[in-house]
Amino acid sequence: MAQQSMRGIRLGSESFETAAGVSLSPRNTHKYRCAKEHISEVIFAQEAEVPAAWNCKSCSLEAALLDDEGKQAFETELPKAPRTHYEMLLERRTRVELEEILGERLDELKARRSRGQADATNN
Ligand SMILES: [Zn+2]
Repeated sequence: MAQQSMRGIRLGSESFETAAGVSLSPRNTHKYRCAKEHISEVIFAQEAEVPAAWNCKSCSLEAALLDDEGKQAFETELPKAPRTHYEMLLERRTRVELEEILGERLDELKARRSRGQADATNN
């Protein structure tokens, strides 16, 4: 009889205990902010030592711990958000210069097409 009721149960691999009536240990939610202004909430046990930095949950940049007022809790220097190609371009040229260059290139392209030359050639 006892053998029959044991059939089909993987002994030792599963717990039949339920989560009912379990009291969780005290915990606190802490906020972190990255260079891109994303806010990540991380839950720590109350007695845990809260780290000053955590990886952002949105972009995985390093994020700094915030205090209750939303200010950076420690003087941690955050890595800057990586610049885009467009931002780097704007450091070297103004928007007016870029529009001028774009106009020149478009004129060249139109002239080449009107002569029946392929776009792929680079001269
Ligand atoms: Zn982020």
